Amino acid sequence: MTVGFVACGPKQPSEIDWQAFSGKRAYAHVERIVGYGPRPTASPALIKTATYISTQLQEYGLDVEEQAFVAPTPRGPLQFRNVIGKTRTRRGSAGKIIIIGSHYDTKYLPSMHFVGANDSGSSSGALLEMARVTSGVPNLWFVFFDGEECVKEYGPNDGLWGSMFFVEDLKGKKQLDRIKAFILLDMMGDKDLHIVMPGNSHRGLVQRVFESAKATGHRSYFSFNQQPIMDDHVPFALAGVPTVDLIDFHFGSAPGLNDYWHTEQDTLDKISPRSLEIVGQTALHLVDSLRQNPRF
Ligand SMILES: [Zn+2]
Repeated sequence: MTVGFVACGPKQPSEIDWQAFSGKRAYAHVERIVGYGPRPTASPALIKTATYISTQLQEYGLDVEEQAFVAPTPRGPLQFRNVIGKTRTRRGSAGKIIIIGSHYDTKYLPSMHFVGANDSGSSSGALLEMARVTSGVPNLWFVFFDGEECVKEYGPNDGLWGSMFFVEDLKGKKQLDRIKAFILLDMMGDKDLHIVMPGNSHRGLVQRVFESAKATGHRSYFSFNQQPIMDDHVPFALAGVPTVDLIDFHFGSAPGLNDYWHTEQDTLDKISPRSLEIVGQTALHLVDSLRQNPRF
């Protein structure tokens, strides 16, 4: 009927009001999550956090699934749980999915009171606020991974538990080719914000992040470095999904230092609503831009 016309498809209208992302609201989520205390995999605080995340997502009108699994770890078998919030799929549309992810567990550090306000309270709070703003936009998945942190030592057999399971599950269901892009947020609440996208991000997506950061007025906070980082985007990248990691891996007492990372210093006073807003708004603009122009 419309032969010769549908090939490119109509440009999607802008659907996401990125300015509606509130750093204050995101920060309030981080406060709540940090309030549960240290939340390593399989801890009571982690379960409370998962329940809080699910409840918020449901309140915003998303469909929520909990993906629970047991895996043999260097600390013995542990129960992991990913929390997944999905916006509606438009009926009759085989539309491609954009996934926005964050881990929500904290590293198991029994010798200290490690609450992980930045790692990973910040990105968990930001994801919840993104989900609120986009609840009416189809084909978005918000995935909160458990077990990003290693339970003993980082290596090929420890860490990235939740994201690896998630990607394997998609593979098993033959759904991987539905995923248009995976956008990861991690350690992005630092008051002194410098997002450095690592070298194992997709170059086309990195470019699109720069364009979105410019459009939102936040360009000066974003840069790129060839150095790869081991994070939840890696299983996606290995499976061929275009992915980008929005991370500030200089979290410390002076510029260039990372001495607050995985210490008792990772507390609420080190992060700011403004930083959550800068990254949250840019990520939302990116999602909107990818929906309008999916080529990169
Ligand atoms: Zn960490």
